[in-house]
Amino acid sequence: MFRPRIGLEIHIRLLTSSKVFCPCPVRYGDEPNSLVCPVCLGYPGSLPVLNGEALRMACLLAHALNCSIAPDLRFDRKHYFYPDMPKNYQITQVSAPLGRDGSLELETGGGKTVSIRQLHLEEDAGKMIHRGNRTLLDYNRAGSPLVEIVTAPELETGEEAELLLRSLRRIVRYLGVCDGNMEEGSMRCDANVSMSPRGVEHSPGAEAPSGDPPGRKVEIKNLNSSRFVRLALDYETSRQREILRRGGRVAGETRLWNEAAGVTEAMRDKGESSDYRNVPETDLPPFPLDPEYLEGVKRQLVELPSPRKRRLVRDYGLSGDAADFLTEEKDVADFFERAAALGADPRTAASWLRSEVRRILNRENLSLGESPLTEKRLVELLGLVREGGIGGGIARKTLEEVFRTGRDPAEIVRERGWEPITRRDALLPVVEKILAAHPKAARELREGKDRALDFLTGMALKETAGRADPGLVKALISDVLKEGRG
Ligand SMILES: [Zn+2]
Repeated sequence: MFRPRIGLEIHIRLLTSSKVFCPCPVRYGDEPNSLVCPVCLGYPGSLPVLNGEALRMACLLAHALNCSIAPDLRFDRKHYFYPDMPKNYQITQVSAPLGRDGSLELETGGGKTVSIRQLHLEEDAGKMIHRGNRTLLDYNRAGSPLVEIVTAPELETGEEAELLLRSLRRIVRYLGVCDGNMEEGSMRCDANVSMSPRGVEHSPGAEAPSGDPPGRKVEIKNLNSSRFVRLALDYETSRQREILRRGGRVAGETRLWNEAAGVTEAMRDKGESSDYRNVPETDLPPFPLDPEYLEGVKRQLVELPSPRKRRLVRDYGLSGDAADFLTEEKDVADFFERAAALGADPRTAASWLRSEVRRILNRENLSLGESPLTEKRLVELLGLVREGGIGGGIARKTLEEVFRTGRDPAEIVRERGWEPITRRDALLPVVEKILAAHPKAARELREGKDRALDFLTGMALKETAGRADPGLVKALISDVLKEGRG
């Protein structure tokens, strides 16, 4: 009867080395209030200067999200009195956001595309640390660059909201503009939820029809993991649906997600006015964005995760799951494509990256870039399996040795004496020994039970520590039995 309308406001912390309007470094974990200056502390008479790298990153993200970009850059002061904001106003973009009318395709979930209403650049606040009945202030974060992204309320479930955050996280990491770490606050999310009666469709971006809406908009603040976003929104949509089902009204309010209780709770009303008395930031007068500059930024765009995933499926014959895994991190997808270009069979390479390589990387807590496995070494290892006849067990042991020693697979195999035994005269005594040791299996094989052949082959592989060529072992077993020697 009612359809949830969920919109997200996402703050992205940009990976610049300095703050957005002053040269103070952007770093976390330093001595409190050591990374500050008169500008980010809001001293009278200090003047903000825009960080060019922050502007480049914001423009790059705006391009990646298909936004139209404002002809000139404008900043406003959003006034509010709060201890974490030493100037008592935040420099943001209220009157003219950098980007408008963009879109973001969800990675999975039927290819749903969500409209981006706006994308703008602004500064972060400081941090309040509550100790008992005292509140301490750390301004190291004040003035760090943020991009805020506001989506249209086109999401309907917690799962879709979680997918959107995951898709956005992949994109910002591909672009190198944010590390995407929600737990550390690099991506922060607020959500708004309302219900509209089914059948009453609004065009995207339009306000709800006037009159008496059944549910007012509820805001949920500070959702700091994509899982919490899903849980909080699923809880909140069913809470609102239940109120409406019983004929009640949903109060417009701000709520917080209580992780321990698994519920959203109304935030204590601070009685704060939402009149921010926005005025233009006259210390940063409007200036036109040079189309050539914007074109230059656009040329820095890399292939984004969604189209890349489709291309990997199309060009390499991979499954959707394999392509999804490979495109999760850009360096993994790059590694895969370089290995394929060096001659690796794409499906085999993808399968090794997804299974054995990932297992070792997780265990050693390494990224592919930090590991001693190069694409050349992976190609060499797969070549040893395909052409050199080494078995799966030896290949896995060799991969472990590559990680342990940082040496080439062929060298490791040679030095360890792990080369496959492919000579008949070397394998014949092994086969004879196995047949003599397992007369029952030999008899079953003569009676036509093929299962016995696999068993005997397995025993011969075990006897040679995996080095025997299984095809040759099978041929030899048949020969020996035919000659009546078994
Ligand atoms: Zn500063």
